Parts: sequence; structure tokens; C-alpha cells
Amino acid sequence: MPIPESDRLAGDLAARFAVVDPATGEAFDEVPDQQPDELDAVVDRAHRAWHGWRADPVARTAALRGAADAVEVAGDDLARLLTREQGKPLAESYAEVARTAARLRYFADLAPRTRRIVDGRPVRSEIRWRPLGPVAAIVPWNFPLQLAAAKFAPALAAGNTVVLKPSPFTPLATRLLGSVLATVLPEDVLTVVTGREPLGARLASHPGIRHVTFTGSVSTGRAVAEAASVSLARVTLELGGNDAAVLLDDVDVDRIADRLFWAAFRNCGQVCMAVKRVYAPARLHAEVVEALAQRAKTVAVGAGLDPDTRLGPVNNAPQLARIEHVTRQALADGARAAAGGHRLDGPGYFFAPTVLTDVPPGSPVVTGEQFGPVLPVLPYRSLDEAVDAANGTGFGLGGSVWGTDVDRAEVVAGRLECGTAWVNHHAELSLAQPFAGVKDSGVGVAGGPWGLYGNLRPFVVHRPQEA
Ligand code: NAD
Repeated sequence: MPIPESDRLAGDLAARFAVVDPATGEAFDEVPDQQPDELDAVVDRAHRAWHGWRADPVARTAALRGAADAVEVAGDDLARLLTREQGKPLAESYAEVARTAARLRYFADLAPRTRRIVDGRPVRSEIRWRPLGPVAAIVPWNFPLQLAAAKFAPALAAGNTVVLKPSPFTPLATRLLGSVLATVLPEDVLTVVTGREPLGARLASHPGIRHVTFTGSVSTGRAVAEAASVSLARVTLELGGNDAAVLLDDVDVDRIADRLFWAAFRNCGQVCMAVKRVYAPARLHAEVVEALAQRAKTVAVGAGLDPDTRLGPVNNAPQLARIEHVTRQALADGARAAAGGHRLDGPGYFFAPTVLTDVPPGSPVVTGEQFGPVLPVLPYRSLDEAVDAANGTGFGLGGSVWGTDVDRAEVVAGRLECGTAWVNHHAELSLAQPFAGVKDSGVGVAGGPWGLYGNLRPFVVHRPQEA
């Protein structure tokens, strides 16, 4: 396997691991397999860089704006590499790059507010905000750039430095992003490390790290929380979801079917807050299944670099095996595939877009997170039954309610136990909103000013009140 020229020039002779193109199943590049003992030097440099970076908020703002510009300039290279290693259609990679730049620009201009408390006593308390120190950002493979930026943009804006570890399935675009940002940020303010486990575990428990911000599965999130408890670093966990879409009895199926389909199947269903279960009134159930199945059967599935593709491959072989397993189990439990239900023949990690009906409510495809192009549609008889079912898993990331009477739908949305509930759409987020899951879906708050404060600590100065 050829070693990229840039890395050879850097004299990087470390062990390496292969990166696979999910559209072919073939390795096409490789990256350094950094070892945990390298982290001491990395974190030490991040700590030294922190002192300069935290000192000058005006320079930080300028640097982060420059970082957003640099991401846009490198947009073509970033997007193509992202599609190659992640699998998503090129248009979605461009959108991800654009959101990465937008996130940097949003946080570049956000600053914490100093507040004074006057409570009748003869003292004045002033609350200032201070950065925490080096932050470890650990991200998954479904949105490598966008989720990385959701972590490093607020952390850097708050005056921290960051050590960023991408998933071993998608390290390439993140490495390129790191070198793009290195042209505008001071040295060691943002460092990308690549490697297989236990690199992430060691990073999460490193004594020099003051905040571990993690996005990934619930089980790894628990391990990260445990690892970070050694140094008592702050922990922010954005974990899995099993979002329900509840369709009301006045829903116009034709009108919402496209939106609902893409809310479930975008990025091949590999979205933490994708619709992962649909609850339809029994009277409309067959119509909903038919509308979704018809779209699943006709959507263009293929390599992300092919301009006709709307749905790419699953990102990696273990995830494909999980999706296949959970689908087979549902079919064995009595479910019926109204569309798909199987892998696609040929190279690459393709799974036929699948709509399941007659699914037993206790089947793992309903109770767990399938994280792939497989959607169970379940009938309900009373609204209370639907809301109870929607709230009835261990997850609580998002949820949505769909109907023609938007006010009524909003009232039902208010009954969902999750971090964000939508009416007549799903998974649309503003940069300015808080993002947080409940139950197993997460700890801490990201997004908007809350994301900034999540990377800061209060520092209070008391002094006598002037007469
Ligand atoms: P994962 O938990 O397997 O891995 C996430 C990251 O953690 C990767 O970088 C991985 O290398 C690293 N890692 C693995 N073991 C570790 C350990 N012991 N200590 C520290 N780091 C470790 O998740 P994944 O399969 O890459 O991603 C899919 C999951 O991510 C899904 O559950 C999905 O719902 C979730 N997710 C959540 C959000 C959110 O915002 N809530 C967003 C996207 C994805």
C-alpha cells in the first residue's frame, strides 16, 4: 500500500493502518497508528499552547474566522475525501464541510458574559468565565468533520486547546482538516491524533486532559465516563438515539412521505437523531408502509462519488454485520420486509433500503439503535399508546410528531421525553440551540452558548460594594 507523499516527507515512520472505501470494500489509503504512549508529548504541547491561546480573545476570534475561511477554500478536497472514506453522497459531504465552516464562524463570534450579582449585601460578586485546559474530543464515523467541529469550535472559542481523535474508520478527512487548520491556528492549539484502541481510552483518562467531549455509542460513552473519572475531568457525552416519529390521525401521508423517508434514511440511516421507528395510526398504517416502501425500492443506491447516488453504502463491515443481524432477527420474529431486508450483491457495504412491517414491538430493531437503512413501521390504536411506546426505550435524543393540525402536533411533541422534539420534520438543528440527550442519550449540553459554557468554568471575585 503506498504511503502518501506528505507523510513520507514528514518522516513519519510509525506503524500505520488501512482506511477502506466502503463503496468497494477495498483499502485505499493508510494513516499513522499512533500509540497511547505518544499522548504524553501531545497533551504536554497542547498544555503549553493553551497559555498563549487563552490569553487573547481578539486574536482567537480572528483565528477562528480564518479557520472557517480555510475550510471553505479546501472544501473540494475535504468533501471528496470524506465521501471516499465515509461513503455518503458527495452533495452531503459538501453540506458537511459547509456546516463545519459555519460552526467555526458561529463560535468565533461568541463570548461568555461576565455577570455581577447584587443581592443586598455590602459585597459585589463578579462571575467571570475561564477555560478549562486541554480538551479531548473523540468522535464517531458518521459525520467525522461536522461532529469534530461541534466539539473543537466551542472548545477553542472558549480558550481551550484540543486533541482530536477521529474514528479509525474515518481518519483521513479529519487529518486533512487538521492540516488545513494548522495553516491558520497557532501551533499545537488543535492536534489530530489517529490510531486504534486503546488510543481513545488512554486519551479519555489522560491526567493532562480537563474535559472529555465524546460522541459515539452508549457503551463506549460509559467506558469514557469511567476513564475520565480517574482524573475527574469534565465529561460531555453525546450518545445514541432511537428517535420515534409519531404520525397523528390527521396526517397527510402523501405530503410528508418524502420528508419522513429522508429523516430516516439520510446518510444511510447512520444519524444519531435519524427517525428509527415510525408509529402510525392503525387506519393509516398500510398507506404509510406503502409510501415509504415505494421510496425505498426506487431510491438510487450507489457509490457516493457517483453524482446520481442518493444513498451510499454503510460505512464499515462491523456495522453492516450489525444491521444484517438485527434485520434477520426481526424477520425471524415475524416481521415482513415491505422493501429490502437484505445486503446487496457485489462489492462494498451496501444494504438494501428496508421498510419493516408486522414487527413485534419487543424486537431489537425497535428497542435498540439499528443505525442503518432499516425502518420499522408500527401501528397504534390510541395516542397514549403511541406516546408511551415512543418514550418506552432507554434512549431520549430526539423525536417528532407529524400531523395537519400543527398546534395539536406541538402539544403531543411536548409529551416526548427527549432533548429535541420536532413537528412535521426531524433532525433539523440551529447552531444557536442547545443540543442534549436524556436517559442513555447523553450527559451535558452542546450547541449554542450552552456549548461554549460547557467548555468554561465560572470564576467568582467578591469585593466590597462601592458606596
Ligand atoms: P463508538 O462508540 O464505537 O466510537 C466512537 C469513538 O470512540 C471512535 O472514535 C472510537 O474509536 C472511540 N472509542 C472506541 N472505544 C473507546 C474507548 N474505550 N475509549 C475512548 N474512545 C473509544 O461509536 P461509532 O460506532 O463510531 O458511532 C456510532 C454511534 O455514535 C451511534 O450510537 C450513534 O448514535 C452515536 N452518535 C451520537 C451522536 C449524538 O450527537 N448524540 C452523533 C453521532 C453519532
